[in-house]
This record gives sequence, C-alpha cells and structure tokens, in this order.
Amino acid sequence: MKRKGIIIVVSGFSGAGKGTIMKALIAKYDQYALSISATTRNPRPGEENGREYFFVSNEEFEKLIKENGLIEHAGYVNHYYGTPRKFVEDKLNAGIDVILEIEIQGALQIKKQYPDAVLLFVMPPSAKELEKRLRGRGTETEEVIRQRLNRAVEESVGIENYDYIVINDKLEDAVEEVHGIISSAHNTPDRNKEFIAEMREELGNL
Ligand code: ADP
Ligand code: 5GP
Repeated sequence: MKRKGIIIVVSGFSGAGKGTIMKALIAKYDQYALSISATTRNPRPGEENGREYFFVSNEEFEKLIKENGLIEHAGYVNHYYGTPRKFVEDKLNAGIDVILEIEIQGALQIKKQYPDAVLLFVMPPSAKELEKRLRGRGTETEEVIRQRLNRAVEESVGIENYDYIVINDKLEDAVEEVHGIISSAHNTPDRNKEFIAEMREELGNL
C-alpha cells in the first residue's frame, strides 16, 4: 500500500524552540521534508538564502502572491512570510511528509485547504523560560523581542485550534514526541481507507 504524505504544521511562540526541534528531527529521521519559506525579513547571522529561508524583497514577495506561488502567507512583526506551493505539492505527491514551520494565521489557512494536515503547537515549559530563550538567542533587538513576546500573548489564544501541543523542555524528548505524533497520524483509519477497503474485500473472498 502506498503511504500518503501528510502536511505537518509546527507553530509556537518565537523562542519556544521550533527551529531547534526541527533541525534535530530532520537529522535523526531522514523521511521528513522541511518546507523552506519565503520571507521579507533580513537573514540572521549564520542564516543562508535557500537554507533557512528564501530571503526576498517586498516586490518579489508580492509577485509570488500574484502568481499563486504560495499556499499560504501572513504578516508577522513587520514582515511577510509564506510557504512556496510547488515544494509542498511535489513532496505530498511523492508520499513524503512535509513539515511547515509557520505561525498561527498561516496554520489556519493550511487547515482550511488541507483538512488532513496535523497541527502541532510547541510550548516552552514556562513563560519565563520563553523570555530567557528568546533573549539568549541574541538575534533580535530589545524592541523586536518585546514585539515577539506581545505576539506570543495574541497567539496563545489560538492554541485550541491545534491538534497537539508539544512541550519543549528537554530537546530530545520533544523531538521524540513530534516523531511519535506524526507516526501515529499515519495509523488513523481515515488515512488508511484503501487498505481497510481492500481488507474487507479480501475477507469477503476467503
Ligand atoms: P523558535 O524557532 O521557536 O523561534 P529556536 O529554535 O530559535 O526557537 O530556539 C530559541 C532558543 O532557545 C535558541 O537559542 C535555542 O538554542 C534554545 N532552545 C531550544 N530548545 C531548547 C531546549 N529544549 N532547552 C533549552 N534551550 C533551548
Ligand atoms: P522567524 O523570523 O523567527 O524565523 O519567524 C517568525 C515567525 O514566522 C515564526 O512564528 C515562524 O514559524 C513564522 N513563519 C516562518 N515561515 C512562515 C511561513 O511561510 N508562513 C507563515 N505563515 N509563517 C511563517
């Protein structure tokens, strides 16, 4: 039976550790494809165009929207972010699970278009720890850190729209939890309709 690819949406407050979990997940399990988003924000030190993001101008981003090149897009703290369509569609067609690390507005757009998508929300063990991680990362100015913490308050209202929360206390545990959730998702009757129908037919022919 051909395994179908699932879209896995991973959201969470800035600094919760989404990027860190995804990096560790991909390093440990090579069956997942991580979508690379387009963004108008500037690269952080160490980030490379085409690896963490496709860094584009406002004009280029608007062109992508016009050409229907994005499956979702949203504004986040002064910048645009969006998911390129082709990569996601190609992977799903090839039966590969695709992970989208995106914020909450985008997550809801995905759920509308792909009701089968699994939505995960990564939480820090506490709000204080979130603040500590965000500051500890040292990649944003104090003003942007404040804006991102404010955004976290807004996003916390939407958590109930997700299918699962993952608490990122110990990194290795969080990675295993994410892998476990995705593995279980493949085993729901809904995602195995063909197999079930075949089994019924074979049983009837015994
Ligand atoms: P996000 O992608 O959600 O914005 P990052 O992956 O950049 O968050 O993580 C934010 C900071 O927290 C980074 O400095 C990262 O090294 C640190 N971090 C991530 N996960 C953990 C963890 N489980 N324990 C302690 N620090 C963590
Ligand atoms: P950062 O600037 O920290 O890399 O990302 C800021 C926020 O934008 C994070 O919540 C991240 O998940 C989200 N994000 C990244 N790419 C996309 C995308 O393609 N679409 C949407 N909607 N959000 C994204």
